[in-house]
Amino acid sequence: TTFDGDETGNLQPRQTPGVLYSKAIPTPVKKPELLAWSDELAAVLQISKPDEKDISILGGNLTTPSMYPYAACYAGHQFGNWAGQLGDGRAITLGEWSVQGASDYELQLKGAGPTPYSRRGDGRAVLRSSVREYLMSESMFYLGIPTTRALALVTTGDQVMRDLFYDGRSAYEKGAIVMRTAPSFLRFGNFEMLAARQEVPQLEKLVLWTIGKFFPHITGANKIIQWFEDIAEKTADLMVHWIRVGFVHGVMNTDNMSILGLTIDYGPYSFLDAYDPEFTPNTTDLPGRRYAYGRQPAIGYWNLGCLASAIAPLFEDTEQLSVALEKYKTVYFAKYHVMMAGKLGLDEFRESDQELIEEVEKTLTLLKADMTIFYQLLMNLSAETTSPEDITTHFSPSFYEPHNKETLQTLTDTITHYQLRLKENKISSKASQDIMKNNNPRFILRNYLLHQAIQELDKGEQTLFLKLQEAIKNPYSATADEFFKLRPEWANDQPGSSTL
Ligand code: AMP
Ligand code: MG
Ligand code: MG
Repeated sequence: TTFDGDETGNLQPRQTPGVLYSKAIPTPVKKPELLAWSDELAAVLQISKPDEKDISILGGNLTTPSMYPYAACYAGHQFGNWAGQLGDGRAITLGEWSVQGASDYELQLKGAGPTPYSRRGDGRAVLRSSVREYLMSESMFYLGIPTTRALALVTTGDQVMRDLFYDGRSAYEKGAIVMRTAPSFLRFGNFEMLAARQEVPQLEKLVLWTIGKFFPHITGANKIIQWFEDIAEKTADLMVHWIRVGFVHGVMNTDNMSILGLTIDYGPYSFLDAYDPEFTPNTTDLPGRRYAYGRQPAIGYWNLGCLASAIAPLFEDTEQLSVALEKYKTVYFAKYHVMMAGKLGLDEFRESDQELIEEVEKTLTLLKADMTIFYQLLMNLSAETTSPEDITTHFSPSFYEPHNKETLQTLTDTITHYQLRLKENKISSKASQDIMKNNNPRFILRNYLLHQAIQELDKGEQTLFLKLQEAIKNPYSATADEFFKLRPEWANDQPGSSTL
């Protein structure tokens, strides 16, 4: 994938001092065809089902005079290192869509061709990555997790070359484009870019504009620090959600951190199957496991540190920024405790519950149990299930491997501790179960299901894709119970996904 300018003429990286974005027009594709459309999101946006003309827009073959297509300029820290200017290399915003009685939505095409920020990339996206973004962002929405959303998915009729194999071989894959939407795609990296260029007046302008447009409740002389605290809280919220459902983002670079606290940039993400705090789905992350499941909240803090440094030039006294940054930890743990109490069906979080929460996590790690199935079984545990044999039998549907006596004893001890705590609940067991039901998804979009659906789509078969598109809509119910099972044996050694 080294294009370097000769194919389309304008693929050289371009440094763009003084600007926040560059105009970028989508490059037409051969034959855009609608593969998926989110009726529910379309209803929110008050957009009717696309006709032929709309499909040309979704494929990037048509821009209208009311559009203002551009690619945003941002920078970022990637895997802990300053990466300099990045920018939207394959996402083009067409404009903002106004909805009566709601916020404006940015409409963006991902995979619509090169932009001035494409560097060596081709600006395209393949069916595989587009299906993954489309389904998972919508799935996160229905899980109640802040996220960018996907309105449409079109195939382009073009082939895109990708390096698929570790030995350097490449192959052609079907091209596709997602139309994604969010009130804003601003990232930490947009602010880091301006700070790195020492364009302080621009930085201040962008900060004040962002506060005015997306944080209108923040006013007064201290608004910038309050804004930072608000972003830190939103980030903490997001991390708690990810931990709750077992989501691993995989590329938590600062250019993938939304200023609105949304899940953004769906790349090599995965849900946990077997519980493992060290799990990372990103093969490039394998030596350090920087972006592993259990490290995400700490990375959130690290990334907020980058944002704090970026906006520091706007403060006379930067001590308050350090204080606000440290507050993230307190806020995170408070939210985390409440969330865990919810997963466990506790009436409230008490100081003494911290020990129980740690015990449950340790036991899950030791068992490498399926996280989703384990919590469903916990929800349906009867107070009469007390013997080690009965407890083992009850939880065995969540086991990927047989366990020795010692491990099973740890499980029994943890469950006994848990049952004692449940007896202290001041709410009915029905109420406790309801809390658990709302906090523990029963359906998650597992990596192997996506893999299977994409393989089928590649052959023109839509059955599984359509099923998943429905299943994601009710993740806390039993409606998609045909998928309520362990990851199958064949999927165990699946190679991780690349970021493309
Ligand atoms: P990501 O790892 O997805 O956050 O992307 C990091 C940077 O690489 C961003 O500037 C992307 O726009 C750019 N990029 C990723 N894939 C491509 C591609 N196929 N063509 C052009 N730019 C890309
Ligand atoms: Mg990105
Ligand atoms: Mg990406």
